[in-house]
Amino acid sequence: MTKRVFNFYAGPATLPLPALEQAQKDLLNYNNSGMSVMELSHRSKEYDAIHHDATDLVRTLMKIPNDYHILWVQGGASTQFYMVPQNIHVKGKSMDYVNTGVWSKKAIKEAQLYGDVNVVASSEDTTFSYIPQDITFHKDASYAHITGNNTIYGTEYHTTPKTPSDVPLACDMSSNIMDKVINVKDYGVIYAGAQKNIGPAGVTLLIVREDLINRVPDNTPTMQKWSTHVAKDSLFNTPPCWSIYMCKLALEHLKQQGGVPGIEKINRKKADTLYKVIDNSNGFYKGHAQKDSRSLMNVTFNLPTPELEAQCVEEGKNKGLIGLKGHRSIGGMRASIYNAMTLKGVQTLATFLQEFQKQHE
Ligand code: PMP
Repeated sequence: MTKRVFNFYAGPATLPLPALEQAQKDLLNYNNSGMSVMELSHRSKEYDAIHHDATDLVRTLMKIPNDYHILWVQGGASTQFYMVPQNIHVKGKSMDYVNTGVWSKKAIKEAQLYGDVNVVASSEDTTFSYIPQDITFHKDASYAHITGNNTIYGTEYHTTPKTPSDVPLACDMSSNIMDKVINVKDYGVIYAGAQKNIGPAGVTLLIVREDLINRVPDNTPTMQKWSTHVAKDSLFNTPPCWSIYMCKLALEHLKQQGGVPGIEKINRKKADTLYKVIDNSNGFYKGHAQKDSRSLMNVTFNLPTPELEAQCVEEGKNKGLIGLKGHRSIGGMRASIYNAMTLKGVQTLATFLQEFQKQHE
């Protein structure tokens, strides 16, 4: 096997090596079934066990109360941008959104197809370098919506904003699901494409509070109703079996690391390691995010010139540090250090950045 690299891509992203090794072992003959998980019927007892184990792991790891449903759906987080309003918007009421970047804007655009959207706070004034504080939501809104972590700008909510009691909070946690302990009860809806923090592409994790399941208008297409997937335990139609199986393996690995509290500690150490390099660089590395809004998952920064940035990305690549180019919309550099990125990977990157500075300042 050729050497594995340290993969800092923003998603699809690095997966835990033990999960990949287990998948490799199981590839041709899963659990003595004589076939791969990719070939198993989704109605087979083998797949049924995988499906429910994955769901149970999510419930245990996030301490999800029993009045929340856990669903595995397709279409990516982008599909939830319209399924959220489709399922919980109440006609005649408005929807409150916080705009913290490209993904928030995409969610807002879709919600506008269903009614009036109030953008109650925005950080667009500083190219989304912070998370707005003291946000006031309207007490008669259908629901409120935030983007938990802004993958492109590298900002993250560190406390959950409070909404009025009848206004459920929906959150896009695609790039920070399970990166730290949260209280699920603060949310009505949580959704996350799996491909950054909990598995491969192809499946979206959706967590919905029981009382929100039946708000959906009757004339909504069957597949678009969360209630359809609740009624059939995410087996209404063929689920992305392989992706869910990979999530199960990745989540088992997370459990072995002390679950979410365990990984939070590691994540804080990883993020601190990189932010220290930035803060101690005398301005050679400039972080994009304001300090109190810094993401644990996506560390975004600039170098003195775009040429140096390109050179740094290239030299990193030659050293097995892959995927450090910033998103095309803001340029610069970005290290995505999701749950599966090891502390060793981050320390290797930190050392490389310090050496690069010495050679080029
Ligand atoms: N929300 C956030 C915060 C994201 O980072 C992304 C993907 N980068 C998306 C939504 C879109 O997810 P998907 O590709 O699963 O539709």
